[in-house]
Amino acid sequence: MTFAATVLTLYPEMFPGALGMSLAGRALEAGTWSLQTVQIRDFAIDKHRSVDDTPAGGGAGMVMRADVMARAIDAAAPADDPRPRLLMSPRGKPLNQARVRELAAGPGVVIVCGRFEGVDQRVIDARQLEEVSIGDYILSGGEPAAHIVLDAIVRLLPGVMGNEASGDEESHESGMLEHPHYTRPQVFEDMPIPEVLTSGNHARIAAWRREQALKLTRERRPDLLADKDIK
Ligand code: SAH
Repeated sequence: MTFAATVLTLYPEMFPGALGMSLAGRALEAGTWSLQTVQIRDFAIDKHRSVDDTPAGGGAGMVMRADVMARAIDAAAPADDPRPRLLMSPRGKPLNQARVRELAAGPGVVIVCGRFEGVDQRVIDARQLEEVSIGDYILSGGEPAAHIVLDAIVRLLPGVMGNEASGDEESHESGMLEHPHYTRPQVFEDMPIPEVLTSGNHARIAAWRREQALKLTRERRPDLLADKDIK
């Protein structure tokens, strides 16, 4: 089954962009997922084709109009479309691997990319948009956020990652950061690969990796361990 992504944006030419290359690009070509873009401006009502207007109550910047956004959303995803409707927004719930996994298991996503100061609150409420943040910083538009959301999803779709096993050990999949990696050469600038990794003892290697992952997580992201029973 093809995972269907629809992106509503004022800049459809930003897609597929980076998603047309490498893993995601090959999966797009193979039909594992599909990508449709919708130009929000095509749903403008006035002769200037305006999509934004000044904020009610005053203040800086512009706000995306509720009526234009609703028309674009209704055309892209009618009421019976089962796909979750996400609005890229720094006010949203921060995206995490658990939500990415849920989204990847579903039929697809409809992603609304904001610009300017954001979107009129009434369309967020009326079309039940789920606000999703990619982190505590402000982008100039939702498009790079949409790239990130889709990249994270697509790599989990069946058949996309060549080595399926590599997925389970990644940072965040296990609730911990991943252990460090090494490859050739055997000695790099006087630093050899840790001895255990060349021992051929798989149990020792697994124990070492777990220990390293735990140490790294404690140092860098103790918050990840806080609610978990990882010791
Ligand atoms: N005035 C808004 C920020 C608008 S930034 C506020 O303070 O909340 C313009 C657009 O960029 C937003 O509508 C959103 O679609 C996107 N964007 C900016 N930062 C983002 C983030 N951290 N996560 C997801 N989308 C973001």
